[in-house]
Amino acid sequence: MSTTITKGIIASPGIRIGKAYVYQGDSIIIPKYSIPEEGIEAEIARFGKAVEQTKDEIKAIQEQIAQSLSKDMADIFTSHIMVLEDPKIEENVRTTIAGKRRNAEWAINDISLELMNSLSTIKDDYLRERIIDISDINKRLIANLQKTRSSSLMDINEEVIVFAPDLTPSETALMNRDHILAFVTDRGGRTSHTAIMARALEIPAIVGTINCTSMVKTDDLVVVDAVHGTIIIDPTPEEVEEFRKYEKDFRELEEELAKLTGLPSKTRDKEEIFIYGNIEIPEEMSIIKDHGAQGIGLFRSEFLFMDKSLPDEEKQFQEYRRVVEFFNPMPVTIRTIDVGADKVYAYTNHYRERNPFLGCRAIRFSLENEDLFRIQLRAILRASNFGKVNLMFPMITTIEEFKKAKNITAEIMEELRKENTPFDDKIKIGLMIEVPSAVVYADILGKYADFFSVGTNDLVQYTLAVDRISEKIAYLYNPLNLSVLRFLKQVVESAKSTSTSLSICGEMAGEPQYTMVLLGLGFRHLSMSPIYMHQVKKIIRSVSIKECRDLVKSLLALEDTDDIEKLVRKKFKEKFEHS
Ligand code: PEP
Ligand code: MG
Repeated sequence: MSTTITKGIIASPGIRIGKAYVYQGDSIIIPKYSIPEEGIEAEIARFGKAVEQTKDEIKAIQEQIAQSLSKDMADIFTSHIMVLEDPKIEENVRTTIAGKRRNAEWAINDISLELMNSLSTIKDDYLRERIIDISDINKRLIANLQKTRSSSLMDINEEVIVFAPDLTPSETALMNRDHILAFVTDRGGRTSHTAIMARALEIPAIVGTINCTSMVKTDDLVVVDAVHGTIIIDPTPEEVEEFRKYEKDFRELEEELAKLTGLPSKTRDKEEIFIYGNIEIPEEMSIIKDHGAQGIGLFRSEFLFMDKSLPDEEKQFQEYRRVVEFFNPMPVTIRTIDVGADKVYAYTNHYRERNPFLGCRAIRFSLENEDLFRIQLRAILRASNFGKVNLMFPMITTIEEFKKAKNITAEIMEELRKENTPFDDKIKIGLMIEVPSAVVYADILGKYADFFSVGTNDLVQYTLAVDRISEKIAYLYNPLNLSVLRFLKQVVESAKSTSTSLSICGEMAGEPQYTMVLLGLGFRHLSMSPIYMHQVKKIIRSVSIKECRDLVKSLLALEDTDDIEKLVRKKFKEKFEHS
């Protein structure tokens, strides 16, 4: 057996050595054969056993999620159990086995397909959502009948490294963190929400490998080096030893960096730089605080909406309040829901859009679904009574959108006042700058906004017209492209001229090699995933604003991205690689 080495895009750093587990997601093979008359009873019993096994599995998953994440997320699976207990479906399977003499897998699959087809034509959104449940249960039942390995990542109960063609953000969020050492996907980019979720969960991950899943088999020994972006399949014993040492060194380095937690985040020339956390799920809040964050710069509220039914006002309020109280008196910037694009949930129906990243996502979704928006605003405003909340709208593309969102907020405030429901009526209202139009007229937006937060993940995507989750054109996705740097400079200038507070919360803010660039451009408030906070602070503490400004001046005088990148790397190497 020879060693294979392949490369990908680092989504979440770390080094792991372990056994591969190839997860094909949706693909299942359905055996089809006839059952003799005398075998019918046994086949029906086999089906009954698989139903019981599947129910037990789902209940175990529910318990596990309730403990490791939250009860709400665990409730997602209640509807799965209801389908399994539906007497009509059960009867249908029994009569198909007995009447058509079909094996259980065949019968279940046909009935599931029929059900899914008829549900897909129904107008009622709730009923249509059940398609996903049926498909999931179908896969589980067939896997249990065939005694194949589990069809869900949550069922994995031994330490493995997952290889998959692709993973959704919610599949990643629900991973069993005790057992999944790392994951590797064929598709995806560094700023896909799956990658962001991996960083939130601190699971080392490499994405965008193009074909790695087809190169590895379940149980192969693999090394995931998510420091250099390399995957080694069937490593030699020498390589395993080398990487074990490397893994140990990496952990030691992290422990060393962790000593920076309590130290001030100031440059050598005493300029204070504020470091905040990006939070995807409320469970992350302790990690973020432990890393020394000065609050939350971006609370991606959409991950509270992963359930198939929407959380009501009270549920949302409790979640926001939990985070806000935890950080009080530090600020928490709550962003209203940003569904759509690569975050598609059952009720959003966005899978029908041709260009979902250019479609009805973020503030567009909220303004189109005003009832939902109002519920979220009420919940956020109520939570503002328990600490320091900033309210932020995502993907503002036009001034009208921002004015409309603010007007609706003012109406909700009035409503709360009338009810005597307390909230912070001095709450700061701001927007994300993540679309070129917002950059171009940030000087006007600044007249209406209390703050801007730059979302470089989308800003790079929309400026360079490059899909942020596509591995094929990942070479184009570069925050150091001169046009992006010019845009960032323009936002800093507009924020200054309109006295609008400014922060940056895209992944660029948490990339240590870009820290000098951002400081030189004028950013002082950086919001990032906790895993990079210590490294970024180390850089902040070892540079002066003057040298950062000089670097940016030189960068803005260049034209080619390659040259800009080379200079940034050179400076980074000189200063930090050996310190
Ligand atoms: C961004 O676009 O940079 C951002 C922070 O928002 P999200 O990644 O959630 O789209
Ligand atoms: Mg964005």
